[in-house]
Amino acid sequence: MPLPEQVAQRAELIRPLLTITDRAWGRYAFSRDILRDRIPPEQQDAWTEGAIRCGREWAARCGVTPGPGAPDALAARLHLKVGQSDAPMTEKRAVFAACLPDGEILLMQEPLARYREFCAQAAGTDQAGLFPTPEEVRALLLAHEVFHAIEEANESTIYTRTQKLRLWKIFGFANDSTVRAIGEIAAMYFAKELTGNRFNPFLLDPLLFAGYSLSGAKTIVCDIIEIAGKISEEAHDGKVNQLPGVQQAQR
Ligand SMILES: [Zn+2]
Repeated sequence: MPLPEQVAQRAELIRPLLTITDRAWGRYAFSRDILRDRIPPEQQDAWTEGAIRCGREWAARCGVTPGPGAPDALAARLHLKVGQSDAPMTEKRAVFAACLPDGEILLMQEPLARYREFCAQAAGTDQAGLFPTPEEVRALLLAHEVFHAIEEANESTIYTRTQKLRLWKIFGFANDSTVRAIGEIAAMYFAKELTGNRFNPFLLDPLLFAGYSLSGAKTIVCDIIEIAGKISEEAHDGKVNQLPGVQQAQR
């Protein structure tokens, strides 16, 4: 049986992403942050490392045994309400889940339903193993939002909120801002660790978006590949050795 076209397209989309490094995923997250132009690449890499560590540590110390059911168990333990939203998504506004200010987590049903339909097509083909199951996707999305709730509850101490970018300083007055990308990266690695999933949750961006716009998903993938290519070039030019973290480690 020939591979359904949709499955072939999405396999092509996902395959190059399976070897993307953590550093490249971090730079991708920063590339989507409004403050991106004010944060030098070396600082982005240092924050990526810190964010990954933060996400993993919180997953390890949250008191729930990692596994597919861990996000639901942790949400219950933290008294977070998990609801569903049937709001339709558009190509322009793609949100797969959200953590509301009152602590309620909303999982959008439409993108998950579309992904479930896609997985039904992929099932039984030799490409099926390339894709997380719909249950895995749901668990990763939920875990990601649980992390944002943890950030809210620990905002004075958690790494993702204590790291700040100085926007300006005049006559002793300074304005420092938190950086959204740091929390996004930490949430992704928290989700991966908590669920024990083999997939990097960043994959869900293009994977779920493909249910709405294949060309939009391709653009995301191209952006990531370009970022990864730039990092290899920097490594080739020896720039990586100038990273503050690396220098410290050598001292
Ligand atoms: Zn997030």
